[in-house]
Amino acid sequence: MNSCFPTILSFEKDFRNYLTSNNSGSAEFHAGNFTYSPITLRSSMDRSPIFPHFGNASSYHPLIIERADGVNFWDSTGKKYIDGVAGVMVVNAGYGRQSIIDAMKDQIDRLTYNFLSYSISPPALNAARRLIEMLPGRMSKVFYTTGGSESADTAVKLARMFHVMNGDPKRHRFIGRWISYHGSTIGGLSCSGHPPRRKNFEPLLLNFPHAEPAYCYRCPFGKEYPDCEIECAKSLEQLIRNEGPESISAFIAEPIVGSTGGALVPPPEYFKIISEICERYEILLVMDEVLTGFGRTGAMFGCDHWGVRPDLIMMAKGMSSGYAPIGGVAVNEKVDEILQSGEAADFAHGFTFAGSPVACAAVLANLEILTKENLPKHALSMGEYLMKRLKELNHRIIGDVRGKGLLVGVELVKDRETKKIFDGSHQVAARVASLALQRGVKIFGLKGSESGMISDFLVISPPLVIQEQDLDVIIDAIDQSLSEVEEALN
Ligand code: PLP
Repeated sequence: MNSCFPTILSFEKDFRNYLTSNNSGSAEFHAGNFTYSPITLRSSMDRSPIFPHFGNASSYHPLIIERADGVNFWDSTGKKYIDGVAGVMVVNAGYGRQSIIDAMKDQIDRLTYNFLSYSISPPALNAARRLIEMLPGRMSKVFYTTGGSESADTAVKLARMFHVMNGDPKRHRFIGRWISYHGSTIGGLSCSGHPPRRKNFEPLLLNFPHAEPAYCYRCPFGKEYPDCEIECAKSLEQLIRNEGPESISAFIAEPIVGSTGGALVPPPEYFKIISEICERYEILLVMDEVLTGFGRTGAMFGCDHWGVRPDLIMMAKGMSSGYAPIGGVAVNEKVDEILQSGEAADFAHGFTFAGSPVACAAVLANLEILTKENLPKHALSMGEYLMKRLKELNHRIIGDVRGKGLLVGVELVKDRETKKIFDGSHQVAARVASLALQRGVKIFGLKGSESGMISDFLVISPPLVIQEQDLDVIIDAIDQSLSEVEEALN
């Protein structure tokens, strides 16, 4: 912005004041012969030249976000918001972190691109080393990608390659779980178990089976913890037997189901049982830490809550806190050893932009912030405060408040006693989120599965640097918006 505007100090000051105070969104800014009109696509006549992601192009009225700082962003009309979702559970370190920006600028001056097929940059090397130190389990190598979906497809292929080289070439299918989400690519979506995202693409998807979710509020077996004997975990064994263990290469799970389940936290025993079953049937355990990784749930990685030691770990989102697109898959020593053996070690898989030097510089600076400021610990205590306050809210449509750290879900129900879900067409959660947005707070209001598997839910997942006073603003906005929707439902 600076390069196209006069740089006289008074102008900058006035323009900055205008941007932060123009809450009406309509006023223009004039200085000499310079005029600035707020950019907006909010008129129904104005069509976006950009496809929405996960949305309907005909009803796409996006915010135009011009700048951000800390936990706030400002739209093109100058209106200020609290980002209660960290972009999309991405900006863990918060916006405008100077050390990340400086590291990226410094790297841009040195080297902006290299191709991992024949070369490697110092930040890519250092970031991989640092990740291996931090990740749970005995991780040995990182395969860089540019995001979470590419990480899912990479995990599918790495697991397949492992079994081929291990003399077990029939194993090629992943087992995913219903409700979970692992990506939009064909591989990632085949692993995913969220019917609305799969619906129109079913004929394209791979023949991957799905296990029941660990969803205590609506136990798929109609049981109650702790008398349930963790059937959601134990039932995996029967599924493996039914499908034929000789065809299964890996089991994939999010430690806590995020965007499609509204923070489904498994019972404490769950992953121990899952790990034992996977080991018994020589099936690799893949943990999808794309959303839960890098402090989001109050531990550096979601796996850390239960001491899970996966064979493969998928990463993206908070890996760079969104300062650059990057992801990766880490493999443990067992997998790495097999992948390195023999002539077939040619892994014909890669991405032009993966492991970009500038993105890796951002990763390194971001990891430094997460560890130095102990943001996982801060997220844990802020998450406890957020959940406590949400549980105190008195609304008849709140069915369940759950989560860990700063990944918190609020499931909305038509009837608290029967847990009856809303008809999807009512868009209850979306209406709550839209009203909260008008109050200057961005949260997600998502529709549950059309199959009745899960009701509408809200997700609150702000940058990990958030403090109590901003959480109070988020909670007040949710409280008032819920009241408005409840009244309209009467
Ligand atoms: N895995 C999980 C758990 C996710 O939440 C997401 C995205 O939300 C993905 C994978 C896909 O990541 P991306 O959108 O970067 O492709």
